[in-house]
Amino acid sequence: MLVVQKYGGTSVGTIARIKRVARRCLATQRQGHEVAVVVSAMSGETNRLLGLARRIHSDPSDREVDVIIATGEQVSVGLLALAIRALGGDAVSFLGHQVKITTDSAFSRARIRSIDAENVRIACRAGKIAVIAGFQGMDEQGNITTLGRGGSDTTGVAIAAALKADVCEIYTDVDGVYTADPNVCLTARKIERVTYEEMLELASLGAKVLQIRSVELGMKYGVPIHVRSSFHKREGTWVVPEESSMEHVEVAGVTASRDECKVTVFMVPDRPGVAASIFRPLSEHGIVVDMIIQSASSEGHTDMTFTVPRSDVGRAMQLLEVHLAELIAGGAHLKSTEGLAKVSVVGVGMRSHAGVAQKMFELLARERINILLISTSEIKISVVVETKYAELAVRVLHDGFGLDLPPAARAPTA
Ligand code: ASP
Ligand code: MG
Repeated sequence: MLVVQKYGGTSVGTIARIKRVARRCLATQRQGHEVAVVVSAMSGETNRLLGLARRIHSDPSDREVDVIIATGEQVSVGLLALAIRALGGDAVSFLGHQVKITTDSAFSRARIRSIDAENVRIACRAGKIAVIAGFQGMDEQGNITTLGRGGSDTTGVAIAAALKADVCEIYTDVDGVYTADPNVCLTARKIERVTYEEMLELASLGAKVLQIRSVELGMKYGVPIHVRSSFHKREGTWVVPEESSMEHVEVAGVTASRDECKVTVFMVPDRPGVAASIFRPLSEHGIVVDMIIQSASSEGHTDMTFTVPRSDVGRAMQLLEVHLAELIAGGAHLKSTEGLAKVSVVGVGMRSHAGVAQKMFELLARERINILLISTSEIKISVVVETKYAELAVRVLHDGFGLDLPPAARAPTA
């Protein structure tokens, strides 16, 4: 087999831990596999480097920031390659441009355009462990770029795709992906298998185990991803394609994202172009709007409600006041509400089971949790509630959908 292993910052956070990773890589190789390893910067290092940049300049150039923060991973690959050699193994380090990982020029959030992993393949075939710097690449002009926070996951999966590896193992400081945040929900269980689609929803809803882009790449190239702990040998969570043989649980997980705000534009004329005029200034300023609800129109007017992250609400209100001045003069008005949370249930089984939404609403009603907004997709139902109810909502939904039980023991809704 060809195995790609990715180790996160905590897994390489100290010299002792780097030595442990070296032993694990060698053990994998001794089982007869070819091994390529992707590593993050030592834990805390990327933040430290960002802090240095900000102390020199209050608004540092993205290009220079990438030059600085890419060094964290450079140190890790050198150290790990040495650690493997110290144990009698053979290893060679690669920086992003040596692999060669080519990206676009969006500094600090670059996307991979292509990978020519020939150098890595040659090293692996020659019995060496290829140790590759995560998070970094090079654009077409030769500038150093980085892939956004958590980007080493994406490097790992991209390398696995380029090498057509059998698996991309993501080693981290948790046991895998959980049915809910174990800090909030004591009955949360490790998920054994989850589909790419579910994982995309869970990741974007706040389960921070994998960078979203890595899941997208895994799905696109069919790379099986195994998220597991670097501190023991037990299996973690497999992120895999949705096969018909897989038992489709209705709900795979429950998540909450806090710090949501609701904005309503009241009394807008109900005519073509109004929604465009509201959302254009927001999108032009990079404000991501999540749920959007337009009320039933009455007497030619309607209300438009949507959610934005709390960090953006001030700017969103300012932009709307300016851009909707004409509508406001004509009687429209704006209101924002803070202190909200979005609680979601996710599962591919929802496609084939009716009644999941109904059950969700009943479970919340039983606890007298008021639902402010609802949105659904094929495999997800989200509700907005007051933040003070978020944890309770997660717990009642989690156990209400039987996620406290092993998958085989869960009773279907309908
Ligand atoms: N070192 C980078 C970060 O802290 C990339 C990574 O660890 O995945 O975000
Ligand atoms: Mg990470």
